[in-house]
Amino acid sequence: MTESRRDFLRFVLAGSVAAGCPIDLKLLAAAPEAPTPQVDGDHYEICHKIRDGQKFIPPPVSKRYDIVIVGGGIAGLSSAYFLRDKNFLLLEKEPHWGGNAYKETYEGQGFATGSAYDYIDSDSNHLAKELGLEQLPVNAPDPTIVGGKWIADMWRTGIDELPYSQKTREAFKQFRKKMLAIDYEKNVKQLDNEPLSKYLQGYPPEITHWWDAYGPSNWGAKAADTCTYVALEDFHTFADENAKDDRITLPGGNGAISEKLAAVLTEKHTDQMFTSATTVSVEQQKTSAHVTYFHEGHLHTVSAKLVIMATPKLIASRITSGISPNQRDAMQAIRYAPYPVINMIFDKPIYNRGYDTWCPGNSFTDMIVADWTIRNQPDYKQKNNILTFYTPLDEADRYKQLTEDGCKEIALHVLRDFKKLLPEFNADPIELHMYRRGHPMFMAVPGNFTKIIPAARHPLEKVFFANADSEGPESLAMNAVSSAQKAADWANKK
Ligand SMILES: Cc1cc2nc3c(=O)[nH]c(=O)nc-3n(C[C@H](O)[C@H](O)[C@H](O)COP(=O)(O)OP(=O)(O)OC[C@H]3O[C@@H](n4cnc5c(N)ncnc54)[C@H](O)[C@@H]3O)c2cc1C
Repeated sequence: MTESRRDFLRFVLAGSVAAGCPIDLKLLAAAPEAPTPQVDGDHYEICHKIRDGQKFIPPPVSKRYDIVIVGGGIAGLSSAYFLRDKNFLLLEKEPHWGGNAYKETYEGQGFATGSAYDYIDSDSNHLAKELGLEQLPVNAPDPTIVGGKWIADMWRTGIDELPYSQKTREAFKQFRKKMLAIDYEKNVKQLDNEPLSKYLQGYPPEITHWWDAYGPSNWGAKAADTCTYVALEDFHTFADENAKDDRITLPGGNGAISEKLAAVLTEKHTDQMFTSATTVSVEQQKTSAHVTYFHEGHLHTVSAKLVIMATPKLIASRITSGISPNQRDAMQAIRYAPYPVINMIFDKPIYNRGYDTWCPGNSFTDMIVADWTIRNQPDYKQKNNILTFYTPLDEADRYKQLTEDGCKEIALHVLRDFKKLLPEFNADPIELHMYRRGHPMFMAVPGNFTKIIPAARHPLEKVFFANADSEGPESLAMNAVSSAQKAADWANKK
């Protein structure tokens, strides 16, 4: 692309590296030569203050609630929905609801800025149905593009099509056979504690390259940092001949569920739900908990009989009082991957051949067709071809998202790599969106699922920790909803 063409591209930068604030920026500051952060959102100043160790002096209690829910991602929204008959307050630091499951639209077409697909019969699927949403089946194996070749179903019919030597293709087949033979449900503990790289030893590097795209996209970690259990659980769903595709979605991905939850809740409870409201402390008292948050330029303290912390543990651990040192250590041992997502909007069809296409060896791991599940509906005509590119970064590269220039570089790198994949991709989008997140996805590292998470999620006397990172083994919207259901059950029993 020429410089002048690039200038015409409208570049839209959204989201917040401070998505994990107040902790993100502290960690970001640790990056080598981290440039000055330029992040949107009126909560930014507060994040800095907390990062710098400033203690906020809580004002007197101004209101009393049965339940305060901190965090308006899908876990917090679902908690509020399940507890909607109580006197609740829901606080979200971003100016919109949804967290990692956040939908945006372009000329009426929905697309995901993060979380994409859900699963049939999951808690989130049941909730979506209850809300009147019909998530539609993906019903297509994932293609892979490698070495200029498009392969329809790599791990089943596609191994023979790989542009590698016969010896390497045979190694792919042996690896597949060996992995599918492992009864992963019988050996959860052992497999959770072993890195996937152990099982890749002796195999050609092409297999590791494939996992080094698949893992970061799904659970934030490359093979060396991936627990074998999570890899096997997924592998069975797409490499086993008899596995059925149980993925479902809508344009906007799981953000469509957050959007609906927020719409349903605001109908009746709009004065109990605040966006751009950053919680700075949760103090357990004898008979209640005091929650202090910053909203519209002021600090407020409210009292709650119970609190649901629907924020990631790296935040909850730093703003909640009364956590034992062991539990706090476990919460802070959870690692989170930085994860920008790029959306390209084309005003003509460029790619509609697969829902989720894997592209190992590029600056992005995979790309998703936003309107895949509605594309064949009789009354639907694709106006723009919107493609969502997943671009998880290594933890050490978190700082790259700090400046707008750094973000543009990431997005343009993705565009460059995309255009080189196949000749028909040599086209410019009319818009290029980037949604940056500093610490959105907890990493499925060895031991996380069976050791760290159980020690981290333990409820306190008045505080329940509900978030996708209370469940595992990988970060999934359905787990966020399950954790919200557990939080609601806990609150109802109290
Ligand atoms: C790029 C990406 C792709 C993904 N793809 C999929 C997928 O295809 N399918 C799937 O099932 N899952 C996917 N996931 C995982 C899924 O999105 C998450 O598991 C789920 O959205 C987590 O929801 P949550 O509510 O538990 O946490 P979050 O979404 O992290 O929500 C926490 C909320 O708390 C807010 N918050 C933080 N600190 C404060 C504070 N101090 N005060 C007030 N509010 C605060 C945050 O702003 C945020 O909105 C993906 C995740 C990412 C990042």
